Amino acid sequence: MSRKVLVLGEVRDGSLRNVSFEAIAAAKTIAEGGEVIGVIAGETVSALGAELVQYGADRVVVVEDEKLKQYTSDGYAQALLAVINQEKPEGLVLGHTALGKDLAPRIAGKLSSGLISDVIAVEAGGGNIVFTRPIYSGKAFEKKIVTDGLIFATVRPNNIATLAKDESRSGEVSSLSVEIINLRAIIKEVVRKTSEGVDLSEAKVVISGGRGVKSAEGFEPLKELAQVLGGAVGASRGACDADYCDYSLQIGQTGKVVTPDLYIACGISGAIQHLAGMSNSKVIVAINKDPEANIFKVADYGIVGDLFEVVPLLTEEFKKLKV
Ligand code: FAD
Repeated sequence: MSRKVLVLGEVRDGSLRNVSFEAIAAAKTIAEGGEVIGVIAGETVSALGAELVQYGADRVVVVEDEKLKQYTSDGYAQALLAVINQEKPEGLVLGHTALGKDLAPRIAGKLSSGLISDVIAVEAGGGNIVFTRPIYSGKAFEKKIVTDGLIFATVRPNNIATLAKDESRSGEVSSLSVEIINLRAIIKEVVRKTSEGVDLSEAKVVISGGRGVKSAEGFEPLKELAQVLGGAVGASRGACDADYCDYSLQIGQTGKVVTPDLYIACGISGAIQHLAGMSNSKVIVAINKDPEANIFKVADYGIVGDLFEVVPLLTEEFKKLKV
């Protein structure tokens, strides 16, 4: 059974976030041969439509308004609901990002629909679309199907492979005029915390430090390794609480959830709350002085040693591989 599926393309700093293309891949599975339509909201975003098409969308609807320059729940909900009203889709996919986590329940509420959040895999089989999502902080997985109504899901970044980008693909990019009214919050200014390099939630490589790094300066060797590997630096709550780094780096149950290809945990004991944010990484390397540290139970490779000796050695070796 083919379906029409909408996908919200998420824009940050003028570019589409990678999770938008992962959402298109999920939407293709849900559509089962039906039409996949990208939606982009923003002030001037129509030029981004072509990229959604190159990643698999059949066409794109753009809602442009100066009031959509910054994300607000009210503004984006009005824009997306207007496109839903026009297109009457059977499926809807958003990224499970800060934006998606805010917007999706609001849309589901307005449509009186269900929502399967934080999806890490989508399969079509036996007439159903089966969604897999982690539960109990990643210790188990559940499979869900929608039996009635809109098939609505948010997909966790870095879990669903994008389709190959095809620059020869073309599709219509149309615009829908929507009156954005009654915004209860108006963003006057966005002051970003200075974060260097790669976005932690989308990084393919994450080098994380815990209380074992001992100071803010102790993060320097981790930053060097991250730079050589083109990755991002993360942290345990222990390191954040000790003021070695900013809380925006915290990974875990009450921090960010990351699923990179490579996660290197340095001086992190492996508390269950930390594992909740990284245990689904593809390859986990742990560096810890304590051979009994819990982190070794989830690690694919364990190095028992002092991180201040091991991390610079790894950096040197990776530098040689890059030459
Ligand atoms: P520690 O447990 O102190 O571990 C430090 C490790 O460094 C030790 O294993 C030690 O052997 C090793 N070490 C020391 N020196 C070196 C060296 N030179 N070389 C190599 N290894 C060395 N934690 C999170 O991370 N994320 C969360 O989101 C989170 N949410 C929480 C929510 C709640 C409700 C609660 C109660 C706790 C939460 N925590 C969270 C805290 C969590 O329980 C742990 O306290 C925290 O993860 C410990 O951080 P750590 O591993 O850096 O520190």
